[in-house]
Amino acid sequence: MSQLKSLRCPCGFEVRSRDEDEIVRMAQLHAKTIHGQEITVEQARALIQIAA
Ligand SMILES: [Zn+2]
Repeated sequence: MSQLKSLRCPCGFEVRSRDEDEIVRMAQLHAKTIHGQEITVEQARALIQIAA
């Protein structure tokens, strides 16, 4: 079983999943809809951390 991972945006938004691809998709959607920013898969992946 893979580890639970999370990505936290400076605005307070957080997404948690065991699926990194899902986290990346959610982060890209969040960045675009909330912040009007396009982020790459690499940028999103770089923000993923192991959830405590
Ligand atoms: Zn945000």
